[in-house]
Amino acid sequence: MKWRPCFLFVAIILAFFIIKPNGDAKAEDSKSDASERMLLYKKMEALTQIKWYYFAAVDQYERNIRRFNKKIPEAKGKIAIYYSPDEWAGPMNPNKDDDNPVSINWFGGVGKDGNGDGKADRNDDEDVLYTFASHLQQYGSHEDDIKIGLWDYYKRDLAVRIILGHAKVYKQFHTLDLNEHAFPLPLHANYTIKNSWGARRGWGGLRIHEGSDIFADYGVPVRATTYGIVEIIGWNRFGGWRVGIRDLNNTYHYFAHLSRFEEGIEKNSIVKPGDTIGYVGSSGYGPKGTAGKFPPHLHYGMYHYTGTREWSFDPYPKLKAWEREERKKKD
Ligand SMILES: [Zn+2]
Repeated sequence: MKWRPCFLFVAIILAFFIIKPNGDAKAEDSKSDASERMLLYKKMEALTQIKWYYFAAVDQYERNIRRFNKKIPEAKGKIAIYYSPDEWAGPMNPNKDDDNPVSINWFGGVGKDGNGDGKADRNDDEDVLYTFASHLQQYGSHEDDIKIGLWDYYKRDLAVRIILGHAKVYKQFHTLDLNEHAFPLPLHANYTIKNSWGARRGWGGLRIHEGSDIFADYGVPVRATTYGIVEIIGWNRFGGWRVGIRDLNNTYHYFAHLSRFEEGIEKNSIVKPGDTIGYVGSSGYGPKGTAGKFPPHLHYGMYHYTGTREWSFDPYPKLKAWEREERKKKD
């Protein structure tokens, strides 16, 4: 048919105009979103004496959970902390959209008025953030108090640990703009990436290969790929000397088979992209100290955490993208 190529051409042109500017707008949006959020956190700090980075950490944790939980509607405002209509208005409240602080309180709802407009609006960022802040405030504003407040809210050790980790990262860098990445090895090193995620592995029972292998010489520096916190460091019989870093998207980055760790890198260390954390080796597949059972390489894995479970996804496209971005920066 004659119209087909023409239609395709028009579609491609349209797609270019529709998708391209949209993509750019999104990136810009998130920067202004971040500065608006920072204002909200700082305002809440002034109001409650609880440090802004705890609000940033909880909000970011909730944003990540919300990405994977289809039962929770998308956030309408800038704050991602979610209250169901029942929680907000009170379970026995006949008006699920109640925004009157007095009746909400009477029905045992948690919703509060954070901006002094006389309404406790479940879709108002300041009201939502203030409602959460009021919960924390009952416990106090020191880290130990916050920890208990978070535990009472989430009833999950992992959630509390992740949120306090996020808070530590925000505190260290004083900004929400922490989306940069680095390739795990220096680009000038000799290396080969194998796209081998999902391949079958024999050692230690039948499992799939949850990562990409980057082959390089012993001693090549291994670098943090994101901003984040060292969650795990030490020996594991599969991974040998390995490091696990949690980033602010709640993604866990796993670096295995190292020959040794960088000095000063320990549990709870805060890292930024490009920081050396260890060196390429061939450790693993046996008891502590086992090495040389395979050629030296970095095993790099990535895991999402949804709030209830964690699963591996293919890091290869990310690795290639970070490599490309870093090359571009160097030119
Ligand atoms: Zn591997």
